[in-house]
Amino acid sequence: MTTFGAVRHDWTHAEVCTLFALPFPDLMFHAQSVHRRQFEPCEVQISSLLSIKTGGCPEDCAYCPQSARYATGVKPEKLMEVDTVLNEARAAKSAGASRFCMGAAWREPKERDLERVCEMVASVKALGLETCATLGMLTRAQAGRLKTAGLDYYNHNLDTSPQYYGAIITTRTYQDRLDTLAHVRDAGIHVCCGGIIGMGEDIGDRAGLIVTLANLRPHPESVPINMLVRVEGTPLGHAGAIDPIEFVRTIAVARIVLPKSVVRLSAGREDMSEAVQALCFLAGANSIFYGPKLLTTPNPGRDRDQRLLEKLGLRPMAQGG
Ligand code: SF4
Repeated sequence: MTTFGAVRHDWTHAEVCTLFALPFPDLMFHAQSVHRRQFEPCEVQISSLLSIKTGGCPEDCAYCPQSARYATGVKPEKLMEVDTVLNEARAAKSAGASRFCMGAAWREPKERDLERVCEMVASVKALGLETCATLGMLTRAQAGRLKTAGLDYYNHNLDTSPQYYGAIITTRTYQDRLDTLAHVRDAGIHVCCGGIIGMGEDIGDRAGLIVTLANLRPHPESVPINMLVRVEGTPLGHAGAIDPIEFVRTIAVARIVLPKSVVRLSAGREDMSEAVQALCFLAGANSIFYGPKLLTTPNPGRDRDQRLLEKLGLRPMAQGG
């Protein structure tokens, strides 16, 4: 194992597995050292996420309460009106968010819907917020339209390793996801791409996900690491709980392998103690979603987050993080 902190695209699976196996204090030390070389260590990027079109998705992602295939009690809703989204964006901005993410439960956007999303993107951007969207698979032309509308980031997660992917989703391939990521990148939009931990994958799969992210050129600017939220009615509703230390290790390894990416502590914070979240920040996580709801699952309320950030002496990062 050599020096850490360089941006590399040649990480091997074995090397990343070795990182996962380091004694916890060593792993945390390396992750914290890399983090401090690239970022102001007490800053956290704050994003706000709104579900602009909820439920009724034809895809079969085993973790997702928005799939029409599972009885999860999520009520399908139509695509929101632009004004409704704008009101939410204003509220998020005054609560301290620098980026506003709009999520739609689609396999891919239809042309008519994309038109409205482009309007939303342009209007949110005009408020002085960074814009992000997650709308499913995109063609090259659709990515280009979103870029023209002013989209800064596109989220499209790889979810897990190429090997384990088939156990989680069967309605589209890993390559489909990589193709969308390439279209987003080619359009000049920043890439937000990560995965979910706790879906029954092993350490080799976690390493496989991180190696795949490291092979993207350039690395995704934003890397959300989610802890599975086990929703009743989904195939993973009764998955075994993940050991929080294992989760912290994943954050630390992501920080070392993707030194310049903002690593987002995403879904699952509602079930995490303050101590575990503090360890995640120490491991190099430097972004969170702010607001009481993450699409359809609960997230800590703004007051609770505010108190935690104050307790830890963390402050919001300016735009561009
Ligand atoms: S994760 Fe996205 S694509 Fe998969 S079922 Fe949920 S909304 Fe649909």
